[in-house]
Amino acid sequence: MILLDGKKISEQLLEEIKVDVEKLKSEGKKAPHLAVILVGNDPASETYVGSKVKTCERVGFKSTLIRFPSTIEESELLKRIEELNNDPDLDGFIVQSPLPKHISDDKVINAISPAKDVDGFHPENLGRVALNMPAFLPATPFGIITLLDRYNIPTVGKHCVVIGRSHIVGLPVSLLMVRNSKPGNCTVTICHSKTVDLKSHTLQADILIVATGQTESVSADMVKEGAVVVDVGISRVPDASKKSGFRLAGDVKFDEVAPKCSYITPVPGGVGPMTIASLLKNTLEGVKRKVN
Ligand code: NAD
Repeated sequence: MILLDGKKISEQLLEEIKVDVEKLKSEGKKAPHLAVILVGNDPASETYVGSKVKTCERVGFKSTLIRFPSTIEESELLKRIEELNNDPDLDGFIVQSPLPKHISDDKVINAISPAKDVDGFHPENLGRVALNMPAFLPATPFGIITLLDRYNIPTVGKHCVVIGRSHIVGLPVSLLMVRNSKPGNCTVTICHSKTVDLKSHTLQADILIVATGQTESVSADMVKEGAVVVDVGISRVPDASKKSGFRLAGDVKFDEVAPKCSYITPVPGGVGPMTIASLLKNTLEGVKRKVN
């Protein structure tokens, strides 16, 4: 069994991004600029946003954190998004989820210009992904295919089973795995909460991608010997032995599943670090598209 070390690969990606940023600057061009909108102060969101801003600094990006109270009116947020769409200094921006209940996710996603949608959530970007056209790939799915690619995992003709059909992970990663690209060209099965006899599907998977948010729900009896397993899930499980009072866990029972796998991602240190690196890669690609 080989660990798909997202931490190591994301470090490589960040170094590559840093070199590209230095090159842009040495040519007299400006550094990529990413903005992050944070509404409210959900603790997990604060952590994610903090590490996005820190990683920007590390690779030489300019970053702007825009904070709003959770009471902000939807119309005011949409107005601010429109301003960011029209800000020539800004190469991309994201709105950290979850948003407060009174704000429509769909309205917010639709308001972001597809040209600055470095999270890859806008319907135009998702449509372009489906059609194998140049697009900002959603950061987590982009991170997953980059991880598979860097480990040279064969995908052509393989059966990939994805559990989860969310618009940010399950659905786009399924599109990336099925399309005529590298990695890609898999036969893809998408499972979800209404799938009957989940195990009968997962047992056929050469590559199993799990993104359900159901902590440690995939057990060894659901996985084929030699499968590649990508665990996207990340949740906090109470653990009195930890200083923080919790440990991080994935959607897969790692200890019993890992011995059956050819490759598997750990949690943490698998898909998570790849997501931030992919977001920065998108922002850089956006800049390159503009300057070339
Ligand atoms: P979501 O809740 O939007 O979607 C979950 C999907 O799983 C749904 O499509 C649902 O149909 C399916 N599902 C739920 N229970 C199921 C079951 N018992 N059997 C089969 N399918 C089932 O979640 P999401 O946003 O896609 O995130 C999934 C997980 O990935 C969460 O743990 C989230 O925290 C994590 N995540 C991690 C990263 C990262 O960077 N590591 C990024 C995004 C999400």
